[in-house]
Amino acid sequence: MSVPTVRLLVDGELRESRTTEWRDVVNPATQAVLARVPMATPDEVASAVASAKKAFSTWRSSPIGVRARVFLKYQGLIREHMKEIAQLLTKEQGKTLADAEGDVFRGLEVVEHAASIGTLQMGELASNVAGGVDTYTVLEPLGVCAGITPFNFPAMIPLWMFPMAIACGNTFVLKPSEQDPMCTMRLASLALEAGLPPGVLNVVHGGAAVVDALCDHPDVEAVSFVGSTRVGTHVYERASRAHKRVQCMMGAKNHAVVLPDANEEQTLNALVGAGFGAAGQRCMAASVAVLVGEAQRWIPELVARAKKLTVGDGAAPGTDVGPLISRAAKERVESLIARGQAEGATLELDGRRPVVDAAVKEGNFVGPTIFSGVKPGMAIYDEEIFGPVLCVASAASLDEAIAFVNANPHGNGTAIFTQSGAAARRFQEEVDVGQVGINVPIPVPVPLFSFTGSRASKLGDLGPYGKQVVLFYTQTKTITARWFDDASVSGGVNTTITLR
Ligand code: NAD
Repeated sequence: MSVPTVRLLVDGELRESRTTEWRDVVNPATQAVLARVPMATPDEVASAVASAKKAFSTWRSSPIGVRARVFLKYQGLIREHMKEIAQLLTKEQGKTLADAEGDVFRGLEVVEHAASIGTLQMGELASNVAGGVDTYTVLEPLGVCAGITPFNFPAMIPLWMFPMAIACGNTFVLKPSEQDPMCTMRLASLALEAGLPPGVLNVVHGGAAVVDALCDHPDVEAVSFVGSTRVGTHVYERASRAHKRVQCMMGAKNHAVVLPDANEEQTLNALVGAGFGAAGQRCMAASVAVLVGEAQRWIPELVARAKKLTVGDGAAPGTDVGPLISRAAKERVESLIARGQAEGATLELDGRRPVVDAAVKEGNFVGPTIFSGVKPGMAIYDEEIFGPVLCVASAASLDEAIAFVNANPHGNGTAIFTQSGAAARRFQEEVDVGQVGINVPIPVPVPLFSFTGSRASKLGDLGPYGKQVVLFYTQTKTITARWFDDASVSGGVNTTITLR
């Protein structure tokens, strides 16, 4: 049976690439080849940017309401096709069907916000800043924006980017992860169906060469990136050198601090869900638990709950933990587990070679794994594992736990579990991490806010979605105006700086 190819989207058309370089898109549970994805040629990238540039000349001045109504229609289409998109997502990415629907849903919420973005596009006005002088601001779109996305949220993260950019009047070139581009393409074709004119949204596929071409292209005005710290740092430097606006959301190590007064049942369930959900392949996964004082006694119960999770095909009912994205990812996680043991951490639960259904015995599975006695300097602590491995560290007090979290370079997310409002408030104030959960293990903000990871997890000032991204995707122009009527013209030449 011939394998389908993933198309490019250029100028409103789904086109077959002319490249000679292709890569397989593989179901990580079964190793079945689902499709072949092209590594787009330099000409194809250039024509996607040219198409976006041409479309910008009219899209930039389309009425705000017209742009918003496309996204109103789009949210309806995504809702209508939710199950089908989620099934495709599970097939190529591996996460469970329920979690895949969550992936689509969190992106859908951004689309809903893009459909009601009107007030965020309003500028400001102050009258009489000097005699008869008014100053006002307008938010103007930038032009062609590019987005580069990771494999772990192939619906949500593309939807963090192009709906808000386009609703602000820009046009867009998206480069999805080459590991799972199919559900992103389904979302792109629904955006066309919703009424985006040709060229407003373009999609190219590929790896480093395509990303570099977008970073260098003189007609790309802004680049949004979500992915690993290594690649994000490269993208930030390269695109900044080419004088673009750049925002990069990158790797993480998220600590959950557990105080002994926390509700044990709720906390342990939260740690297990946030540590092992999506097989730990979330940038906001709780990957380190810092147990304070007496809470260190909870390790056996944590292990008991983790053991109960079912590992298997994300498409099978009852699965809690699906496969890792690739064989290479599985081998990397297994080797980090071996290093954790060699470096002296205690392996409380070993998820290597889990028992799975015979139909998926070739899948990239690693089950829930827990280490205790984890310390900085060990590879399992210093590196982002991006697998179902929970590191447990200990602290004698809240102060020590806060110092421990702050000594880690990453700042994506953190959480505290406690019943003390005073402790939670102190943690919120003193912890140097951009997103804080209080009895909430994965504090990803809804799209009325912005994603505000910090420190080594982010380069650039403004985060994705919400108000911050409106500023990222627009240029504030400030106008200072004076209108004369004959009666008010007086005086002569003024060579001083003041406007009176
Ligand atoms: P990745 O950095 O390998 O890939 C991201 C994108 O960059 C892909 O589109 C890929 O094709 C491209 N790319 C890969 N190598 C490149 C290179 N050498 N030069 C230029 N482009 C290149 O990331 P991934 O493995 O797909 O995703 C997992 C990572 O993403 C994790 O580190 C995770 O923490 C991070 N992530 C961060 C956030 C956040 O909001 N902070 C959200 C999701 C994922």
